[in-house]
Amino acid sequence: MNKLYKSAFTASLLLALAAGLQPAAAEGQPKVLILATGGTIAGVANTNSPTGYDAGKVKATDLVAAVPQLRQLADCHVEQFCNIASQDMNSDIWVRLSARVNEALLKEGYNSVVITHGTDTMEETAFFLENTLQCDNPVVFVGSMRPTTAISPDGPSNLYDAVHVAVSPESQKRGVLVTLGGKIFESRDLFKNDINHVDAFSSRYNGPIGRVDAGDVHYFANPIHGERPYWGIPADAVLPRVDIVHAYAGCTGDTIDAAVANGAQGIVIAGTGNGNMTQDCLAGVKRAVEKGVIVVRSSRIPHGFVNRNHEISDDDAGTLSSYDLSPEHARILLQLLIYHISHEPSPKYQLDLQKCFESGYFVNK
Ligand code: GLU
Repeated sequence: MNKLYKSAFTASLLLALAAGLQPAAAEGQPKVLILATGGTIAGVANTNSPTGYDAGKVKATDLVAAVPQLRQLADCHVEQFCNIASQDMNSDIWVRLSARVNEALLKEGYNSVVITHGTDTMEETAFFLENTLQCDNPVVFVGSMRPTTAISPDGPSNLYDAVHVAVSPESQKRGVLVTLGGKIFESRDLFKNDINHVDAFSSRYNGPIGRVDAGDVHYFANPIHGERPYWGIPADAVLPRVDIVHAYAGCTGDTIDAAVANGAQGIVIAGTGNGNMTQDCLAGVKRAVEKGVIVVRSSRIPHGFVNRNHEISDDDAGTLSSYDLSPEHARILLQLLIYHISHEPSPKYQLDLQKCFESGYFVNK
């Protein structure tokens, strides 16, 4: 533990001690589970570097102890789920995390769950849970852009905001939410749009759906989905490999051949413009489709819709279009769809795959 962190940590503990003098969780307070997965919110600076730090170092209990004001909002319980930088997040962790949240909300009497997570892949984990959680209680993701040892860390106030959002009755039936810098987002159209700034998230279509400040939680938009999608995935599921291939001027189809040779069962093209790619790349896509690989055309452009049969004929190429989904989100949906197709071959589950991308729904509950 470095010196700077030690003093911040000591201050946190003193605060926590002071909080300990306050009454414990008040009767009737909502029960919130805080699941910590790592990220910059649990990051600690390396004193030898003015900018560098290691994500996923501070323990979950210390993160929560640093914000004693949480006691005013909820009966918070804390659990260390993992402690990693979110660039190391993967689908094995996603399926276990989803199962843990389902268990907490459906079997253990928690009213809401807050998940601390790195911002790099938060949009992906949040979207995975959006599609795999079985109930409508609030699940709120939160991170920070500055580590705990920064001059002005944003983690503690973001964590307070997230719990505030999680206990707000207005947050029911809104699916999985993400809070950062006082803004509230839905997961489907979320993307990280700034590498450095504390206001790092943006939404591809609707903008933030609400704000949270010291006083209250305010929503100013209806949820995107009338009804939440739900896809049941067991905690030990192994999701299929789905690769993203980025299109650019001069991109070649052999990158797609390589993905197929590496075992990809699905491929998402982060296309130019409206899901476009070079003729050579398109030939590679057709070769993949002939081998039974499902290919989705998405776009490297953050805003707009990839429509079917626009410049590329999906009917001819045998491809799907991602509609509003980013390549990263389309990849998650495709992983779930391929898993579903291979594990639930009953007629009940005959899906219109294209519709799954357009509507955001898999099957009804
Ligand atoms: N790479 C880190 C992570 O995602 C830093 C980003 C952050 O947490 O803000 O965990």
